[in-house]
Amino acid sequence: MKRLSLAVIVMAAAALAGCGPRGPAAVDAARIERAAPAEWLSYGRSYDEQRHSPLDKVNKETVSTLGLAWSYELSTNRGVETTPIVVDGVMYVTSAWSVVYALDAKTGAEKWVFDPEVPRAWGQYACCDVVNRGVAVWGGKVFVGTIDGRLIALGAADGAKAWEVDTINKTAPYTITGAPRVIKGNVIIGNGGGEYGVRGYVSAYDADDGAMKWRFYTVPGDPANGPDGAASDSVREKMAATWKGDWWKYGGGGTVWDSMAYDPELDQLYIGVGNGSPWNQEIRSPGGGGDLFLSSIVALDPDTGEYKWHYQTTPGETWDYTATQSIILADMKIGGEDRKVLMQAPKNGFFYVIDRTNGAFISAKPYVTTTWASEIGADGRPVENPAARYADGAPALVMPSAFGGHNWHPMAFSPQTGLAYIPAQELAGAYMNDANFEFRPTFWNNGQNPLVSTLPNEAAQRTAMRAAIKGRLSAWDPATQTEKWKVEHTGPWNGGVLSTGGGLVFQGTADGRFVAYDAADGTKAWESVTHSATLAGPMTYEIDGEQYVAVASGFGSVYFLVMGFNIDRKAVPMNGRILVYKLGATGTVPPVTVERIETPKPPVVRADAQAGALVYQAQCVQCHGYNAIGAGVIPDLRHSAVLQDAALFHATVLEGARAGNGMPSFGAILKPADAENLRAYIATEASRAYAEENPAGGRRRSR
Ligand code: CA
Repeated sequence: MKRLSLAVIVMAAAALAGCGPRGPAAVDAARIERAAPAEWLSYGRSYDEQRHSPLDKVNKETVSTLGLAWSYELSTNRGVETTPIVVDGVMYVTSAWSVVYALDAKTGAEKWVFDPEVPRAWGQYACCDVVNRGVAVWGGKVFVGTIDGRLIALGAADGAKAWEVDTINKTAPYTITGAPRVIKGNVIIGNGGGEYGVRGYVSAYDADDGAMKWRFYTVPGDPANGPDGAASDSVREKMAATWKGDWWKYGGGGTVWDSMAYDPELDQLYIGVGNGSPWNQEIRSPGGGGDLFLSSIVALDPDTGEYKWHYQTTPGETWDYTATQSIILADMKIGGEDRKVLMQAPKNGFFYVIDRTNGAFISAKPYVTTTWASEIGADGRPVENPAARYADGAPALVMPSAFGGHNWHPMAFSPQTGLAYIPAQELAGAYMNDANFEFRPTFWNNGQNPLVSTLPNEAAQRTAMRAAIKGRLSAWDPATQTEKWKVEHTGPWNGGVLSTGGGLVFQGTADGRFVAYDAADGTKAWESVTHSATLAGPMTYEIDGEQYVAVASGFGSVYFLVMGFNIDRKAVPMNGRILVYKLGATGTVPPVTVERIETPKPPVVRADAQAGALVYQAQCVQCHGYNAIGAGVIPDLRHSAVLQDAALFHATVLEGARAGNGMPSFGAILKPADAENLRAYIATEASRAYAEENPAGGRRRSR
């Protein structure tokens, strides 16, 4: 055999180095699977989505000197849910309205910004604020899904658009808020829209050129139309056998709007599937069965989208109990046996451990109060409380609520402690069948009686409601299904969690702090004031031997849009921020101007306020808040000049006069009389606030 000359070997090595992409963010499968500690290459850091970084320079001994290294202001005041990606010294992060930012990860210096210029009126299809949870990186490109359903590839070096595809064809009120994942060159992306009437699916696109590789529908379509020509066709009949009625007219739901994970060894992609559309099964699939694959974890072949197995958390979903919460993969000993598990704490309040090789149920226990079901039986099916199903027309108060025992806020798992860290919350939800339900395409369609979740008028009752709403960080042992420790917060909707090799877990809070706890026992180790709700998933990385901890901070996100009544202070709309900390840094987070807005004297509107309440609760709550109480992100209608001026109010509601600001026209479903009734209702709520602020006609209460 002839020996290769040194020159040939050198040339071969150069060719090897030259194959594949060069330059920044030249990420490939090997790089993500290696998951080098200094970087954070995918939404959940690694394919197993554990959100555990081995970095340990910031630890129990050193964390006291952690301080702000730099901060960066995002371009919008809307909800902040993004997890930064850091690769090759660059941080790629998103804001609401799907804007992408590339920042120097060491200094925060802006490298480029890409704004996909989402038409603001498309925001009406976002159930839960126009948020974005982050990008994916692969092969020198950065991928973002936009709120109006596009998937866009950008050059990592300069943010120039490489390609763009419309994943929804603008045929239905879909939105994208989740971060894409890239597996073997396939960019995987789902969408949301389950509150409006859509059929869920997840798709894969070629990272090089955006060509669609496969699509998997999570619920069956109209049987009369036959197969979709999609990867899901092989299980089309299996799905359809679990549905009844004319579900396809309403879409059926099952949107894949957030969680995914990938096991390279088993070569399985796991997707979390959302709620039914409408929520109410009696409308969607009357007398139906499980309604597959709603509220399920489904395993797919990442190359073809072919179905492998599924596990359904909430059969016959009727409470908005999505299974789209964090999916985390880990190997652990359970009952003395080595198991490859998948963990999830979905909205329905039970913590699930399942065998990720085949979807077999291992165990489930409640991590918060669950009144819809007493337990998950040995067969993996819930033992339901029949009254919780509200099928008899009576209202039902159920725990958890549609906000979930846990929502999108990322959960973490530490292989060091063997614990999962859940941003958990306790609040009840009221459900009631809508006997007058009428499907209005592209509008809010959850099948609930719109008045069932109206707030009580008495201040004392509202105070009692507030007191009953709780939030906590729960450290959960999946192997024994027990809570090891917990930290009670001042309210719900707290931040996602980061676990580190330094034995710490980091979490932001809804009341404006960023906190580190001892991962073993929950002792508070460090705290920093962020001046605004801090909800997103924190992350960590290392550059030039220094460890950084980063978190996106900002108000907005659905809870703060709709639950204004439970917000103590109304922050003047401020833009979101990226906050980055390191040891020994001494920066401070710029404070936020907080201002109480006095309610102007409301107009007298001679119309039917009760009829207006029906319109308001059905169509307006999701952005403007229960009982027209805003929290300062989207205009509080009680304070709005639009309320004072009937002509302007009608032009806004019926003709889209403020569509450019994101307030769409409701002219397709509302008439002038409806608009005036709506104005009368908002004026009634404004009068209530005005009276509280001006007791007995005297001087305004001092603040
Ligand atoms: Ca939902």
